[in-house]
Amino acid sequence: MLSILSTQHDLKNYIANKIAAGKTIGFVPTMGALHEGHLTLAREALAENDECIVSIFVNPKQFAPHEDFDKYPRTLDKDSALLEDIGVQSIFAPSVDVMYPPDFQSSVTVGNISKPLEGEFRPHFFTGVATVVTRLLLLVGAHKAYFGEKDYQQLQVIKALQRDLAIPTEIIGVPTVREASGLALSSRNAYLSPTQKDQALTIIRTLRHMADELKSGQPIAQIEATATENLLSAGFDKVDYMTIRDADTLLPPTPTTKSHRLLAAAWLGQTRLIDNIGVSSK
Ligand code: AMP
Repeated sequence: MLSILSTQHDLKNYIANKIAAGKTIGFVPTMGALHEGHLTLAREALAENDECIVSIFVNPKQFAPHEDFDKYPRTLDKDSALLEDIGVQSIFAPSVDVMYPPDFQSSVTVGNISKPLEGEFRPHFFTGVATVVTRLLLLVGAHKAYFGEKDYQQLQVIKALQRDLAIPTEIIGVPTVREASGLALSSRNAYLSPTQKDQALTIIRTLRHMADELKSGQPIAQIEATATENLLSAGFDKVDYMTIRDADTLLPPTPTTKSHRLLAAAWLGQTRLIDNIGVSSK
């Protein structure tokens, strides 16, 4: 039976009972509109813990005023059915007032790792994410929490805040789930027309091509410039970044870089898509 919890009090009671019964708890924070990527995180949480709790909360603090907070898909009934089907025992679906009571006045800002890439193009974003994730991790008090590599920089930001603030939940990264075509699953794919969905495939194809070029020793600036051109000629309206970075710092690679991460953010009409892949050491 699936329990749907919406208040801090109900969540605390629910968790306290499970802990008292000796259960281990895996936690999967989401914004809902669930797809196979989210379900993979939940399955992994179920495989490694006795209980899985999934939170569904569209976090206003991580959207800038001009972004898609209002139109972000909200599908709680469908999400609940999907989670119940795979054996998830509980959902935490708080209102904005529960997550941010009227006197809420704190925020969590992570340093260097949150500055480049998404930090540059979405200046509100990581403080919004870090604040909500810190609050959720502390409210739930799970043994392990699961996050996707689809949001690679976000995963690094969360690992940093967990370490720096000594949050007792272990953070687990899960590889990106893709369609057979290679397209990374994303709730925002729902905004794409069939033609745009085809165009969107250029991101992963180009990232994979960049990885081959990197391994064959081509200069990074040239690989990045060609890749950007490639997206624009496939019909992307704007490329925020198409770049090769040090996988640990997310800064441009240096001679001491051990592994590379190739990251993309680009716009198809009003829809901003992100993706990334890793290239391990030479
Ligand atoms: P969201 O609901 O988009 O905030 O995502 C919730 C969690 O699911 C985050 O940890 C995401 O990184 C993860 N996630 C989203 N899409 C995927 C995917 N295609 N594969 C793996 N994890 C994903």
